[in-house]
Amino acid sequence: MPRPRNLPADLETDPKKVLELLVGLPEVSVLGVDCTAPVVDLHVEKLAESVGCPTCGVMAQFKGWREVVLVDLQAFGKPTRLHWHKRRWRCADADCATRSWTEQDTRIAAPRMAMTDRAGRWATEQVGRCARSVAEVAKELVCDWHTVNDAVVRYGEALVDDPARFGAVSALGLDEVLFVRRGSFHTKAFATSIADVRAGQLLDVVPGRSARGPGQWLYDQGLEFCAGIEWATLDLSGPYRSVFDAMVPGATQVADPFHVVKHANAKLDEARRRVQNETLGHRGRKSDPLYRIRRLLTKADERLDDSVRERLVGLLRAGDPRGEVAATWHAKEAVRELYAHGDEPTARHWIERLIADMADRDNPIEVRSLGRTLDRWKDQIVAWHRSHVSNGPTEAANNLIKRVKRAAFGFTSFRNFRVRALLYAGKPNWSLLEAITPV
Ligand SMILES: [Zn+2]
Repeated sequence: MPRPRNLPADLETDPKKVLELLVGLPEVSVLGVDCTAPVVDLHVEKLAESVGCPTCGVMAQFKGWREVVLVDLQAFGKPTRLHWHKRRWRCADADCATRSWTEQDTRIAAPRMAMTDRAGRWATEQVGRCARSVAEVAKELVCDWHTVNDAVVRYGEALVDDPARFGAVSALGLDEVLFVRRGSFHTKAFATSIADVRAGQLLDVVPGRSARGPGQWLYDQGLEFCAGIEWATLDLSGPYRSVFDAMVPGATQVADPFHVVKHANAKLDEARRRVQNETLGHRGRKSDPLYRIRRLLTKADERLDDSVRERLVGLLRAGDPRGEVAATWHAKEAVRELYAHGDEPTARHWIERLIADMADRDNPIEVRSLGRTLDRWKDQIVAWHRSHVSNGPTEAANNLIKRVKRAAFGFTSFRNFRVRALLYAGKPNWSLLEAITPV
């Protein structure tokens, strides 16, 4: 038969070699392939070699075959199973402690993995880097959820626990993350994220939101690491404050503005619900004036146009006879205004006046409570104005928190959550993935 012209000179044309190149596994010979089913079945064995006993070194005797079926990468668009026909060996020395074993090759598959090595790496990158769901990747490979998840956790852990993933950190932030609602009562399970809030890198997550997890974590990093931290950002949480007091006493603590404003909004919501209950005797209903403005209330004032603001004022007048919700709304806006001040002395002056005003006994209890919180945290709150001026960490922190929260959604196992969050927001060195072999 004539052959096409202009074929490159260095093409491999030996059919057996072509097949081995396409299969792409080291030192295997292809026994056969079945392409009749929707899933390709590819049968291979390792090239024959003489093997010594791993314990005594005596030449091993062939004992038989064991077929292991592994989920592999798709082959030309079709899901594929690799049937690895493994040799069983026995030691020829009857006195040897090792009696028999099965051949291994981590270049084909890591021990106890239901997936080939190359499919495991690919799945880890799809899920960890491209943020695809485990279910979606499993569907593509036509295998079950656990097979993909096991691979992501085992390759992923090796990648995120690389000691070179982060070095010295000058701005460290702690924040709580809700990662699951468990069981039929939707009990919330929390974790604490530990981040380099200047670099926007998630360093780790630890279980719970008490001082214990982050305290131990900082202790494990060592004195030099702790001494390098200049800024320590936190929400308005007592436990995190005590972690910083104890572990990084030299750092300037900064209350995250996002959480300060969130706290003011929570107080406003409390006031609205209380007044609603007191005036109408029931919890919010669709037609209640205060219920209708519950979202408008927490919106930033400058983001309301005139007609919307008019509606807000009208409904407030209707549902808030003593002006308590309105007073709390003004308090919230005053807290927001704190962040319009550019420098620390002005901000300090403003917050001190705010604290004094809020303490007035005529104020609703929510406003007085807000004032006491501001008083307890005023140093940390105004410190933001210094950290912000020095190209502060806040924005990076908030973006990071959003990313972590997105990655955290709906995990039932802390271990899964930690790996996925760190693969996604922890800036692992993806070039190391090629060299990782899970143990
Ligand atoms: Zn032996």
